[in-house]
Amino acid sequence: MLEVKPDIEFKRELSKLSGSQLNQCMQCGNCSAVCSLAPAERPFPRKEMIWAGWGLKEKLIGNVDIWLCHQCGDCSSSCPRDVKPADVLAAIRQKTYASYARPRFLGKMLSKPAWLPVAIAIPVVVLITILSLAGTFRIPEGPVDYSAFFPHGLLNGSFSAITLFFYLLASFGIVRFWKDMKQQTPPGESGMQRLPIGKVLREILSHSNFSGCGSRKPGKLAHMLLFFGFTILILVTIYAIFATITHNYPLPFSNPFKLMGNLASLMIYTGLGIMIGQRLFNREVFGKSGYSDWLLLVSIGLLTLSGTLVEAARFGNWACAYHLYFFHLVAVWFVIMYLPFTKLGHISYRTTALLYARSIGRK
Ligand code: SF4
Ligand code: SF4
Repeated sequence: MLEVKPDIEFKRELSKLSGSQLNQCMQCGNCSAVCSLAPAERPFPRKEMIWAGWGLKEKLIGNVDIWLCHQCGDCSSSCPRDVKPADVLAAIRQKTYASYARPRFLGKMLSKPAWLPVAIAIPVVVLITILSLAGTFRIPEGPVDYSAFFPHGLLNGSFSAITLFFYLLASFGIVRFWKDMKQQTPPGESGMQRLPIGKVLREILSHSNFSGCGSRKPGKLAHMLLFFGFTILILVTIYAIFATITHNYPLPFSNPFKLMGNLASLMIYTGLGIMIGQRLFNREVFGKSGYSDWLLLVSIGLLTLSGTLVEAARFGNWACAYHLYFFHLVAVWFVIMYLPFTKLGHISYRTTALLYARSIGRK
């Protein structure tokens, strides 16, 4: 006999996060019919809507289809009961990061505004401790030289170790996510194909799934600007780490990597501008923007802005240069180290889900 385990608290949280009256869904199926990304067999989001209405957390967390949705909002626009399935799926994705986070408090800390002071205090305290132990926690005299404040070797070593630590914790969550997907959406009779890594990479890089979403064309441009801007910044940072090792740092303004970094910042500012505009002025399509949406946009904005100011402060020898630099390091921690536990974690969860979906032939 099929055992149904409703989780009323989970249902309540989904309702709150999505701003949807889940009980209003009458299972008409319009949402699945209009979704251009839903597979023909067992399409979404109608079935997810009934599971959400029943509070079936176990069927939703670890559901591969949740990640095939690119939140275009077409289903919400055509829902006769104004239930907003697009926002419900976004809320389930948000609950997924928190559910797989270990230790659990990391997921909780980054999903609730009340915990924001703690999330900020952790990097502040750790950075002050590292700098105090190194004996450099003071404003150096003379022209701005960030390595006099945070020696390059110490910065590269400590940040790499902390990032690896957080990502190792996150990898356990990804493994459990894979197992749950396998349990809930088992491979069909033809079994699993070899992991289609190249195919999924092409899908991600081309943002081809965004093209299928009718009402959200500018969303694709904004997402591409952010995605490629962010990727370029990471590549430039890796180059900068090598430059510190070979003593070719700081880079002059005319250095091609420096120019690429500045171009990437411009791409991020533009992408963020479009996204914030859409969330503020096109709520009909983009639905309800929650804490996790704003936390991501604001933290990426502050990271990029503080990076630009840190660079200007070095060239201009500003008195506040080291304060800006400290702020920038906290922002780096917030976006990069916390990545798997915030909305930015969709990079890893969506990639994993796409790999699983394509390897079982779910298109
Ligand atoms: S969410 Fe709306 S469109 Fe989808 S099945 Fe329910 S009532 Fe119909
Ligand atoms: S938001 Fe778009 S992609 Fe997601 S379920 Fe609705 S129609 Fe499909």
